[in-house]
Amino acid sequence: MSKHEVTVIGLGPMGRAMASTFLGKGYRVTVWNRTAGKADELVVAGAHRAATVRDALTASELVILSLTDHHAMYAVLESATDALSGRTLVNLGSDTPESARRAARWASEHGARYLTGGVQASPPGIGQPGFSTFYSGPQEVFDAHQEALEALTGADYRGEDPGLAALYYQVGMDLFWTTVLGWLHALALADAHGVPAEEILPSASSVLSGMPEFMAFYTQRIDAGEYPGDIDRLAMGVASVDHVLRTARDAGVDTSLPTAVREIFRRGTAAGHADDSVTSLIEVLKKPAA
Ligand code: NDP
Repeated sequence: MSKHEVTVIGLGPMGRAMASTFLGKGYRVTVWNRTAGKADELVVAGAHRAATVRDALTASELVILSLTDHHAMYAVLESATDALSGRTLVNLGSDTPESARRAARWASEHGARYLTGGVQASPPGIGQPGFSTFYSGPQEVFDAHQEALEALTGADYRGEDPGLAALYYQVGMDLFWTTVLGWLHALALADAHGVPAEEILPSASSVLSGMPEFMAFYTQRIDAGEYPGDIDRLAMGVASVDHVLRTARDAGVDTSLPTAVREIFRRGTAAGHADDSVTSLIEVLKKPAA
């Protein structure tokens, strides 16, 4: 098998963008999807449609999995585990670090090599410069396929533990989803006062563009476990969060998000952090809520 052959299993928006990018870069591409019709355009563009999962696995040594999650991966591959031996599976579907470690063990038991990936691009970004994917798993497996993987996005190898790429990906998504919700809640608050999203854009962008400097200042202190209240105090934060909550309540918008935020601040105060920095809340967040 040539280095320029690849199988893509899973043809949602992401898998289709990946297969199409490989085709555009001259790879021999084999595709399989549960809903076979999603391969039609790729087949017209030159991809080979595998009739079965087994055919898809045997067509190329490098197999990209672009499925919703690991449940989908097992559902697809369980029917052809005998064809896994000697393959390299690169799982670019989202799931937890623990699940990635389990999947790597499962693949190894079937004689396959396994890399976890966490793609930091949406489908239109695949094959375009400026995007990157976290990878983890055996270094030699990554090295052997780095060139092909870089046909999709830049490759950021994080280490041997197959859970690491999933961890970096989920850390990013944790930040992304909470930020998106914070922004939407702020827009709902503005909307209740007749202020449209467009008018809020400059001030909202300004708050977020200050975050890298804020984080850079506090990162070293957080790693050192130090939260002096020399610049900000949790007690001040509690009052501020309460103002946000009351503003939301007065406006008649959903208060569940600021209520959850206030509860975390309350737990920080109860744990004795009132005179520490708001960043001391990480000590609250490191443990499950009682
Ligand atoms: P979709 O959920 O749209 O597509 C996923 C694929 O999984 C489809 O081919 C679907 O098949 C298949 N699938 C799901 N469940 C099963 C099952 N039980 N058995 C067989 N096949 C199954 O996802 P995307 O293409 O958008 O994304 C793929 C992965 O990439 C996801 O894990 C996503 O989190 C991740 N990702 C996506 C990004 C995006 O912007 N879209 C960005 C970064 C990462 P069928 O067509 O038959 O339904």
